[in-house]
Amino acid sequence: GIVSPEPQDDTELAVEGALRPQSLQEFVGQHKVRGQLQLLLDAARMQDRPADHILMAGPPGLGKTTLAMIVAHESGRPLRMSNGPAIQHAGDLAALLSSLTPGEVLFIDEIHRMARSAEEMLYLAMEDFRIDIMVGKGAGATSIPLDLAPFTLVGATTRSGLLPNPLRDRFGFTAHLEFYESQELELVVKRSAGVLGIGLDAAQGSEIARRSRGTPRIANRLLRRVRDWSVVHGDHEVTLAGVRAALELYDVDEIGLDRLDRAVLDALVRRFRGGPVGLSTLAVAVGEEPDTVESVVEPYLVRIGFMGRTPRGRVATPTAYEHLGLPAETGLV
Ligand code: ADP
Repeated sequence: GIVSPEPQDDTELAVEGALRPQSLQEFVGQHKVRGQLQLLLDAARMQDRPADHILMAGPPGLGKTTLAMIVAHESGRPLRMSNGPAIQHAGDLAALLSSLTPGEVLFIDEIHRMARSAEEMLYLAMEDFRIDIMVGKGAGATSIPLDLAPFTLVGATTRSGLLPNPLRDRFGFTAHLEFYESQELELVVKRSAGVLGIGLDAAQGSEIARRSRGTPRIANRLLRRVRDWSVVHGDHEVTLAGVRAALELYDVDEIGLDRLDRAVLDALVRRFRGGPVGLSTLAVAVGEEPDTVESVVEPYLVRIGFMGRTPRGRVATPTAYEHLGLPAETGLV
């Protein structure tokens, strides 16, 4: 296939925007979640009320933000976007909530990182569309109740386990996003190639899909690097050899593991003899934040059966040894 010669705005945000499906119909995979969301949205529309609050849970890049946009789009309501780290005080949240128009969809990404005081304010807001604003200090402090316009909260988290139960319980539905199958990612790659004007054949598309770590965001990113390779080294012609060369250049291995995945596996197997080892020890060994190892690296390694989580720590499986080309020996599950 041929890469179209037009220049493109290739900033990460612009491309992600362009590649985002706009409707549940266009959204690839996640059949269960799509059906669940469809019902929720249909019922709300038939009763002419905002949809129940929705929590999107799962590793990065699987479509949580995209689904939040689709929720707003399909229910014909405006979308307001915010994120947990930006909400450091209850006042930040009060300002946000009190400015919502009736029926608006409020998206809070990384909702597990919101300030504690804001979390408590959110309980009442979600349940009764009301907040209590504290004014004054000490003995003279009073709280003034403030009614809010009804809204739909869509929260996203990579770590639903970190959400306090009272918050989790106030969502009408939790969408658990799973890693995608290769065939699904092939559809994502094919669709994105169409949008970006990149001609790919089935073998090339499936090579990218197979090595995308079950993640649409990674599939889209690798597709763009393959495009770069083809423009620079292939005179705009995409070839299977070019696909492989581009992926190799960016340290994506045969089964799609990246450098950090391999560093974690390597430390687990060589340094800690297959485990069990605690999360923070493992994270220090690869120079990463424990949170990144836990929410980005581990879910996929567990999913493909390379790593196990036990009460005593993380362990490597025989498959992991095999992948690293080592004889399986100590500390196996
Ligand atoms: P998250 O919020 O979970 O980190 P995003 O919703 O930002 O993930 O998705 C990352 C990228 O992958 C976006 O460009 C999005 O369009 C694409 N993507 C995610 N899920 C799908 C899907 N099911 N079908 C097609 N593209 C998808």
